[in-house]
Amino acid sequence: MLYQRSSQLFAAAEKVIPGGVNSPVRAFKGVGGTPIFVSRAKGAYLYDEDGNRFIDYINSWGPMLLGHAHEPVIQAIKTRASLGTSFGMPTELETQIATLALSMVPNIDKIRFVNSGTEACMSAIRLARGFTKRDKIIKFAGCYHGHSDSFLIQAGSGASTFGTPNSPGVTQGTAKDTLLAHYNNLESVASLFAANPNSIAAIIIEPVAGNMGCVPPLPGFLEGLRALCSQHGALLIFDEVMTGFRLAKGGVQERMNIVADIVCFGKVIGGGLPVGAFAARDEIMNYLAPVGPVYQAGTLSGNPLAMAAGLAMLSEIHSDAELFSRIDAKTAYLHEGMQKVLLESSLPFTINRLGSMISVHFDESPVIDFETAKKGDNERFKRFFHGMLQEGIYIAPSAYETWFITDALTYDDLDYTIQAVANVVPKI
Ligand SMILES: *Cc1c(COP(=O)(O)O)cnc(C)c1O
Repeated sequence: MLYQRSSQLFAAAEKVIPGGVNSPVRAFKGVGGTPIFVSRAKGAYLYDEDGNRFIDYINSWGPMLLGHAHEPVIQAIKTRASLGTSFGMPTELETQIATLALSMVPNIDKIRFVNSGTEACMSAIRLARGFTKRDKIIKFAGCYHGHSDSFLIQAGSGASTFGTPNSPGVTQGTAKDTLLAHYNNLESVASLFAANPNSIAAIIIEPVAGNMGCVPPLPGFLEGLRALCSQHGALLIFDEVMTGFRLAKGGVQERMNIVADIVCFGKVIGGGLPVGAFAARDEIMNYLAPVGPVYQAGTLSGNPLAMAAGLAMLSEIHSDAELFSRIDAKTAYLHEGMQKVLLESSLPFTINRLGSMISVHFDESPVIDFETAKKGDNERFKRFFHGMLQEGIYIAPSAYETWFITDALTYDDLDYTIQAVANVVPKI
């Protein structure tokens, strides 16, 4: 495959946009080479500016659960656009999507819409802090909650005490209120509660992690967090930006039967337009302005185009009783196919999967947290990525990302992908 035009477009973009991209992971820094410039996409396929076709396993990093340019979503956007694209005033659409979302997700009474997952998580912790009148939060190494200051804290040697910022510009003052724990390790959480009595407002977690590959919670882990939060008067925030409306209609809360106090959404909820949201029971949501004292706002929040896309997307998901079993079955089929190929090779590997999230790690030990995710052979992953690209398969350009399976993928697409893995594996 040739990427001549993509290379030219990237060179032009680099002159006017830092690194040529508006979000860093798109730049292919993790795998080397030149990013592919997309011209269009439909269903399971992406078409680039050079005319190459790819089967897409990123799907805009999650939102396109039903495939690209899904007709009901596109129609809703078109219809809505001709009526005006932003008013900064309430519309009935907002109540419609709120009502539908609340009917699909358990344990939430009210929802507030924002413009991204970052905004949702940032607002959720402010709300948790206001509600509990405490300052500190616990996050887990390897979990991503957007790029706001409080979350850009990485595990280091000080991981079990205070966080250190992993981006210049995040102050020590902010970092000291973010405590780091280890995913799937309840002890690490319990000791933070013991060391910080009455000062932890919330735990925020990806209840099925998807930003270090797919890392499901071990049995008892989420239940343990729930118990610790209840015991210590802290809120449990599920960041379901990735998992919401993807692992079940009601997300991980429904799928694993755990009650969270605040839930964050993004990605699927916007049907491909910029939408985020956070939701909780009345008692907590009534702390938000204009009812309560915690301030949060947005000029384009609840934007009619975005709400129309989101409403169409959620309606599709709501009305299709077989959707999740169908997507899960496709993911399981891909898992089995790739596993067979990899077992026949001599490569060390681990495949993690939950629902329509799946990731391939080039290391044989179980991947249960950030430390074990980092053990994967990155050099081999780079060769795998570029090999798959040559075969016409687009996976995330990073070893720490989940693949997203969509309903638009056919079993032929999956067979083609498994064959591509078989072609690539001997070369890596
Ligand atoms: C993508 C993601 C975010 C950030 O959402 P943006 O819309 O990119 O700001 C937050 N949390 C999780 C779990 C995510 O996957």
